Amino acid sequence: METQLDILKKKFLLEIENSQSLKELDGLFLQMFGKSGEITLFPKNFSKLEKSELKIISPLFNQTKKTLAEAVRKRRGEVKLADFKKILQEPLGLRKISTDSLEKIKTKKRQGHTHIITQFEEEIIRAFSKLGFAQFDAPQIDSDTYNFELLNIPQDHPARDLWDTLYIETSEEGRVKSEEGENLNPGKLLLRTHTSNAQVRIMEKIKPPFRQMILGRCYRYENTDARHEHTFEQFEIVYVDKGLSMANLLYLSEYFFQAIFGYDVKARLKPKYYPFVEPGAGVDGLCIFCKGKGCKVCGGVGWLELAGAGMIHPTVLKNGGIDPDVYSGIAWGFGLGRMLMVREGIKDVRLFNSGDLRFLNKY
Ligand SMILES: [Zn+2]
Repeated sequence: METQLDILKKKFLLEIENSQSLKELDGLFLQMFGKSGEITLFPKNFSKLEKSELKIISPLFNQTKKTLAEAVRKRRGEVKLADFKKILQEPLGLRKISTDSLEKIKTKKRQGHTHIITQFEEEIIRAFSKLGFAQFDAPQIDSDTYNFELLNIPQDHPARDLWDTLYIETSEEGRVKSEEGENLNPGKLLLRTHTSNAQVRIMEKIKPPFRQMILGRCYRYENTDARHEHTFEQFEIVYVDKGLSMANLLYLSEYFFQAIFGYDVKARLKPKYYPFVEPGAGVDGLCIFCKGKGCKVCGGVGWLELAGAGMIHPTVLKNGGIDPDVYSGIAWGFGLGRMLMVREGIKDVRLFNSGDLRFLNKY
């Protein structure tokens, strides 16, 4: 059996040495190590052997396997190098293309365009600008203070569990201070979990009455699936004036649904808990697919939850330096991806950030 193994080894080593291309080497490799390769099947005969014989042949067989695999690896390197040298030596003019054939080559024209989310952002801005809303920018890396504390969500508040947050490690020295020594980043730093981190910032910067809107990326520590993304876009309006009520909120909802779905979409409010509004509301739109009759998309309910909203909590107004006895406020917002999924019938939220041109080119 030792001779058999030796013959096999010599045969393959020679073939490896003589092979001239990577394809040939791949073929040889399969011949040896494939499912029914000669080397793979060789130990089949071991069962007939005496123990003492097995003690000799086993290590020999393993050594042979190693030698052959190494020989293939080495030859692959040599073949590659030879190919490369050949290309270098080839005079450039060898691959002459006549001007005739050049004209026949059609180049694929591919024109870029804005991402579907960006297009939607522009639509939203247009719709709300008409009602006098101006854009406000808030940082995507923000402090725990603006993202939670000032929004009536203190450290130990159970509502913090609603947002699985991505925190950023910071040292005491790493905190940013303004020239006046004011701490610009009090508290822990995090990636904002919602655009609501802008609410108190707006109140601190602008005197009421005001109409502001925030658009931008938010982040959550989330396992992704067809309905969840760790990175997503949110839209939110913060509207503060005297005498605002849920009626204004309902009007804004219907106005917006009409603007983006293109026709009258009835809206209804249902109670929903968010710590920074009181009362809080889930905003449903009459299902645009079945018009309320009940279908697969709305789960037979006839309504789709499209946005979240509420009257800004008096504590939050106070935190922003606004007297809740004089002014009231509306916060109203939604996730852009989720809204687009409803409007465009997109089934997987992960497509938005996928960079997949088959998806992107549809819009
Ligand atoms: Zn429906």
